[in-house]
Amino acid sequence: MARPFRPHADRGPRVPRTRPLIKRALPRRDSAGREGRRHPVIRLHEVTKIFELGQIRVRALLNVSLRIDSGDFVAIMGSSGSGKSTLMNILGCLDVPTRGRYLIDGMEVSHMDADDLADLRNRKIGFIFQSFNLVPRTSALVNVELPLAYAGVRGSERRRRAERALSSVGMANRIQHMPAELSGGQQQRVAVARAIVTNPSLILADEPTGNLDSRSTEDVLRIFARLNDEGRTVVLITHEPDVAAQTKRVIRLSDGEVVEDRRSRGVHDAPPALHRQKSGHRPIDAGVAEARP
Ligand code: ADP
Ligand code: MG
Repeated sequence: MARPFRPHADRGPRVPRTRPLIKRALPRRDSAGREGRRHPVIRLHEVTKIFELGQIRVRALLNVSLRIDSGDFVAIMGSSGSGKSTLMNILGCLDVPTRGRYLIDGMEVSHMDADDLADLRNRKIGFIFQSFNLVPRTSALVNVELPLAYAGVRGSERRRRAERALSSVGMANRIQHMPAELSGGQQQRVAVARAIVTNPSLILADEPTGNLDSRSTEDVLRIFARLNDEGRTVVLITHEPDVAAQTKRVIRLSDGEVVEDRRSRGVHDAPPALHRQKSGHRPIDAGVAEARP
């Protein structure tokens, strides 16, 4: 069912706060590049979500319990209407459960005030959507600067960081382009740059490759693989088995319930796309994507 989905709607301009910000460092790694200790970034306990539409009650999630550790790369699958987006919105603190508990980094989300939640969303979580959600008639650069503007980062620093994020997704030579002047794959790479510019430790993507051709899908998946290899936790929704195969764990929803939770790689193993590249197949370098028209 179509519904209004406006992740930024409640943000508005924010005054820089004086209270300390929520801790959000990337996990520390030992000399072998592996995290010292696994810790759950996400913990759901018996989460149920019910939407009330007048007389009709839609149960979108039922008693979902889930733990996702820092550094994991997870695909959420399931047919249309199975509750994937509802789950993602709860994970991203864009919506709240009707029943059950959600802890992010050990902190109970329902105990956070509006300020903490806004900080959490803005600084710790990067969102990517199927339809890119870029601001039209606004350059790639300004689109990517936006989350930094919300966070109160000043002009030159903002620009430097936005340029770096765009360059890391192979879009350094398109920073002044408007969304309409970019292909779908390029727009999604701009959206990824926007999601990572605040250096979030958790990336949430709702069907990020749903509107992309196979080549752009590969580009975006390699970027996700690299972000995951850098220590970020990545959770993506997909209905494409090829996409799910690039992750380390697949969670399947049916009618709002988890019906399967299958791990194919360890939390700290290299993601499949990088693994293949490391054994000498295809270069991961974003420059490859950049060279393409
Ligand atoms: P998926 O992403 O797997 O397609 P959703 O999470 O979007 O599924 O939806 C799960 C169920 O909840 C569907 O029956 C859908 O119609 C319903 N639903 C989702 N969001 C809302 C909403 N805001 N209001 C009413 N019903 C909703
Ligand atoms: Mg959905």
